Amino acid sequence: MIKSVAIVGAGVSGLTCAVVFAERGYRTAIFAGEIGQRTTSGAAAALWFPYDAEPADKVIAWALETYKVLVDLSCDARTGVSMIELHQFSRTNEIPIPDWAIPLGAQRLSSVATGLRPVSDRAQRGGHNLFRSGFTLSVPLMDTTIYLDYLANRFIKAGGEINPNVQFKELEAVHPKFDLMINCAGIGARELVDDIDLEPHRGQVAVVPKIDNLNCAIVCDDEPLMYAIPRRNDCVFGGTNEISDNLAVDPAATSTIVAECSRVLKIDNSRVLTERVGLRPFRKSGVRLEREPLRDGRTVIHNYGHGGSGFTLSWGCAEKVLALVSLFGGASSGEPLN
Ligand SMILES: Cc1cc2nc3c(=O)[nH]c(=O)nc-3n(C[C@H](O)[C@H](O)[C@H](O)COP(=O)(O)OP(=O)(O)OC[C@H]3O[C@@H](n4cnc5c(N)ncnc54)[C@H](O)[C@@H]3O)c2cc1C
Repeated sequence: MIKSVAIVGAGVSGLTCAVVFAERGYRTAIFAGEIGQRTTSGAAAALWFPYDAEPADKVIAWALETYKVLVDLSCDARTGVSMIELHQFSRTNEIPIPDWAIPLGAQRLSSVATGLRPVSDRAQRGGHNLFRSGFTLSVPLMDTTIYLDYLANRFIKAGGEINPNVQFKELEAVHPKFDLMINCAGIGARELVDDIDLEPHRGQVAVVPKIDNLNCAIVCDDEPLMYAIPRRNDCVFGGTNEISDNLAVDPAATSTIVAECSRVLKIDNSRVLTERVGLRPFRKSGVRLEREPLRDGRTVIHNYGHGGSGFTLSWGCAEKVLALVSLFGGASSGEPLN
């Protein structure tokens, strides 16, 4: 019977697992090198949308499960989750509406032209012919400056504890009083469990002041990757996606991002408030969500490798981790262990 759970990692994957376990009555602690805004999760634009993660079938299932939870959270502004109209464009192709998006209400942008808000309207139909096609879909947006704290506070309220500045060389180094480890180390799992399948997909964003009339998220995944995502107090401009470990801000990339977003939005180049870089933990063989025995006889459940979809998959994956625990003798819901 599992008594105590140690979660390695305080990004969105670790925090979400921590909430799920602590609220089911497990004695749960997080250990992490970095917490809050210093994690990759703190650098994310954090829009719900499956992107740059494998394998497709599992990713869509976890994403749809997560969608439902986030829609509920969006009813309370204190969570930092809100619903936003996503306008997904292609510069070159007739963009297909994915099958999974149809039940969520996705529609071609041309067929809803009268519903377009001014900025996107200009982006879609402006003189530059910027985009060839697009579709629209209502999706959850997590304002990371609020949402990560919301998760951490919810975890602490459920009795959990967060231990920052703890960097493990191996999972066996977690204190023996913990029977179960959950590995949510993101790109850090490369060193922690020697996973050479992990690839750092470097992303850079520029945070700019709020933009008048921009009420929807505008995304184009064709090269150059471009997104403008309005949040409560500012707007996130992106982006980049390249295989690199370099965490330093590249000023030239910021200039390109700001120029492209401003061109699409038909505004003067925005002033930059902050720039952020993060390494999307992309795993070539797919998200690792499985249990494994450790050398010391304890068990770890791995939950990493979410690539560009860590927020999008967070609740679906956390529930799957819990299901894996129940399979091998965890406390069932309503049977608290602490
Ligand atoms: C620019 C950018 C934009 C993005 N936009 C989106 C988006 O719109 N939607 C979306 O869903 N996703 C997006 N992502 C992807 C998303 O940010 C990641 O998938 C997600 O942050 C991964 O979360 P995580 O908790 O697994 O890892 P992380 O946030 O990286 O957290 C890992 C944690 O593990 C700790 N750790 C690592 N190694 C060790 C160790 N050895 N010992 C102790 N602690 C350790 C770290 O300190 C940290 O606390 C974006 C990413 C970037 C970079």
